[in-house]
Amino acid sequence: MESEDKINILIVDDLPEKLLALETILEELGENVVKANSGVEALRLVLAADFAVILLDVNMPGMTGFETAALIRQRRKSAHTPIIFITAFADEMHTAQGYSMGAVDYILSPIVPEILRSKVRVFVDLYRMTQQVQRQADERVALAREQAARAAAEEATRRSTFLAEASKVLSSSLDYEATLRGLPRLPVPYLADVSAISLVDERGRLRHTELAWSDSRHGTCTVSVAAPEELHPRLIEAIHRVLESGKLEYRADLPPGLSLLASQRQSLEPSPRFGLHTLVLLPLLARERALGVLALGMGPSGRRYTPSDLALAEDLAARAASALDNARLYRNVQEANRHKNEFLSMLAHELRNPLAPIRNAIQLLRLNQSQDSDTQALHDMIDRQVHQLVRLVDDLLDLSRITRGKIHLKMETVDVTSVIARAVETNRPILDARKHQLTIALAPAPLKARGDPVRLAQVIGNLLNNAAKYTEEGGQIHLGAECRRDTIRIGVRDNGVGIPSEMLSSIFELFTQVDRSLDRSQGGLGIGLTLVHKIVEMHGGRVEAFSEGPNRGSEFVVHLPALHDDESVAMPPQETAASCKLPRRRVLIVDDNADAARSLGMLMEMGGHEARLCFDGQQGLFEAERFQPEVVLLDIGLPGLDGFEVARRLRAMNLAPRPLLVALTGYGQAEDVHRSLEAGFDHHLVKPADPHILTGLLTSPPPGNGVA
Ligand code: ADP
Repeated sequence: MESEDKINILIVDDLPEKLLALETILEELGENVVKANSGVEALRLVLAADFAVILLDVNMPGMTGFETAALIRQRRKSAHTPIIFITAFADEMHTAQGYSMGAVDYILSPIVPEILRSKVRVFVDLYRMTQQVQRQADERVALAREQAARAAAEEATRRSTFLAEASKVLSSSLDYEATLRGLPRLPVPYLADVSAISLVDERGRLRHTELAWSDSRHGTCTVSVAAPEELHPRLIEAIHRVLESGKLEYRADLPPGLSLLASQRQSLEPSPRFGLHTLVLLPLLARERALGVLALGMGPSGRRYTPSDLALAEDLAARAASALDNARLYRNVQEANRHKNEFLSMLAHELRNPLAPIRNAIQLLRLNQSQDSDTQALHDMIDRQVHQLVRLVDDLLDLSRITRGKIHLKMETVDVTSVIARAVETNRPILDARKHQLTIALAPAPLKARGDPVRLAQVIGNLLNNAAKYTEEGGQIHLGAECRRDTIRIGVRDNGVGIPSEMLSSIFELFTQVDRSLDRSQGGLGIGLTLVHKIVEMHGGRVEAFSEGPNRGSEFVVHLPALHDDESVAMPPQETAASCKLPRRRVLIVDDNADAARSLGMLMEMGGHEARLCFDGQQGLFEAERFQPEVVLLDIGLPGLDGFEVARRLRAMNLAPRPLLVALTGYGQAEDVHRSLEAGFDHHLVKPADPHILTGLLTSPPPGNGVA
């Protein structure tokens, strides 16, 4: 009915010829003329569409023009639509009644087309104008709505970006100090002109405040305030109130010029030199404890906080509190861990010292041929137990080094077969004691790898030792090694207690033990497999554990990258066989631990050497001049002149013959070895020194530079 851009005009008359006449007259206006032949029809049309004007015949059968007009007026939609009555008699029009019925005009018939058209045109134009104004108003409203929605969306995005950024910063580090310093920067300038984080200790005492504010010249500035007195007393009061209540406090009525810092602090640089009109304080709550308060202030920007700003600030405070709490917990754990490592390291060093003389003494006692078999058995027992102790202490030391990343490998071409032989040799006592049957299957081809032979022997030794420990007496242990393509595979299999499948994945983790209730003479510290794993990894290999479950035995397999013949470098000279005839040497022993010195001296003498003992550095130097030793076994940790200094002075004395200087110390790390060599030592041995190695050194040809 409504064609585009055309305006509707309704004409109502019961006579079709009059309708036609009206239509013809109005056609010229170029609008949309709609016809109705009764009041009822007119009402129906008025309900369905909007009309600029209605031309209504007064005299109609049924519903008259007046009645129709009255009903049109009653409808809300058409209450104000202009109505022009058409009547033959002005009288009949009862003008007053017509107007009261809502007419805006009337026209007498016969109609003068010009008059009708100009009257109707006025209403059409009016309608069109109103429509346009309405459209423009609608457009303005829509535009305003759209802008508001866009601004709200942008604000929401900014807020969530702000929180996301804040969270990213807060979760990026577990460093407590860094988190604390970074925190007050987060709300500035988006949520505050100045912000402060004040922390309290366990007893609620104000400890530390970090401030951040935005400065037009320098960007974001920060300052740490250590003493609470440097804060404004009103801020301190407010902080305590918030800590007490655990609730947000909002003050928008601050006295002019109020700052977060006490007035005397204002003279210091840098400090925020502006007053605040609004301050929000939020408690930093984590696990039901108040860690402190986040304070946000507005001043120079003149901004005020909206409820959604406050909600955002609360969200930020919650995130800040948990970040601080996490960092604090992490710091505590780190600290405890550091203390534990330091303690373990110190403990291992201290335990090592008494072990050296004990080990030497046993060695001496064993050399005494005249003892009966009971005594011999006792010696064997002590020997085994000391061996076990040395092993535990070594593991402890290695552990503390590993956790500090301080294990260094002395890499060379390694014959895996001899490494295995060494490991078997060391574990022979426990295998025999537990009456295990050990079978060994080694591939005939040479098994060469690049590695540290001592550490690799330690790996295989550890696995063998475990197999022996975790297998009932008289068990079967199989050790096999072969080369598959580029990998050397070394397997240690037993038919012992086995490992539950759920433990297999964590068995290499530190302190993991399947059965803590195990007879403690068997059990260790749960360190061995961690060392195995770490050392194998350092060799570019990997280790795996297999077991079909409890009492079904276990197998540990080490994979190492194989070295082929063309890659191998010359093997170092083999140790001199222990059985060859030993030359007699003059050995000077300098150790402030008298027991250690004496037992070592006796060992030397039993080996056919001549030994002199000194218990401090000065005495050692003095004795060196007189005794002209060929070998000096020198403790490093001496009171007064330490071993390094003694070595330096010995070298400066240019003794003839040039003595072989051997450092004996509890410290075996690369830098310790390096220091020894620099001081003039030829060898650096870690206490308790292995008697075989010592013997080897005494029998070796005159010294070159090397480290045993
Ligand atoms: P430790 O032997 O000192 O407890 P390890 O790190 O060497 O520590 O071994 C960790 C745990 O792994 C042991 O306590 C034991 O429960 C289990 N385990 C290691 N080797 C075997 C094995 N061959 N058979 C059964 N269990 C083993």
